[in-house]
Amino acid sequence: MATCNHWRWRWAAVLTVTVFAASMTQAQEQPCGSGAQSAICFGAIDVPDDQRATFTLAARQAIDAIHSREFAEDLRNFATRHAAHGDHAAAWAGVDPVATIAALKAGVPGQRVATYGGLRGWFLRTFFGNMAYDGSAEGPILLNRAALPRSAPSIANTFAHEIAHRAGLRHPHSSRDLATARCEPPYVIGTLVEKHAAGQEWRADSDDCHLFRGLTDSGHQGT
Ligand SMILES: [Zn+2]
Repeated sequence: MATCNHWRWRWAAVLTVTVFAASMTQAQEQPCGSGAQSAICFGAIDVPDDQRATFTLAARQAIDAIHSREFAEDLRNFATRHAAHGDHAAAWAGVDPVATIAALKAGVPGQRVATYGGLRGWFLRTFFGNMAYDGSAEGPILLNRAALPRSAPSIANTFAHEIAHRAGLRHPHSSRDLATARCEPPYVIGTLVEKHAAGQEWRADSDDCHLFRGLTDSGHQGT
């Protein structure tokens, strides 16, 4: 009998180690940046299986863009050229591009992502155009399944937008003047991350701040 219990414990130990190893393997699948950013990773991404590859790619694109010199340049250029004038200017007051990028970087490690859907997702998508919520400050970024599938760069845009909220940035015009809100910090940061994720083929569209439009047609990237 004692021997039998002994083996039971041994099997229990083997099972525990196996489950632990499996969970470690899963942890390693948390999406990280590429190259020099390979040690910077999001937390768990809890999305439908058929969306997993796209979300994983989007997380890598967001991490790479937020840490890139080009993104820092673009954000600084936008702030210099456009942040002081127009209805969107108030939301840019006191926003320092260097400090903002530091805050965005700080928001990346361990950032979890999940989805919501059902009637609430459909309702918010249909009547309010909602694609995502930042959830609570501690919880996962929540993407609306009713607004999927989307391209990886578009999802990277949403990740950056929501991380910008967590860094304290706001778009006060979103409820009454979306065109202005799109030129406020979370939208501009999302647009610039999408621009870098999409690469050469990126063009500003009607979801982007009007100040971006036309600038890319001539191949001029310095928005
Ligand atoms: Zn927002």
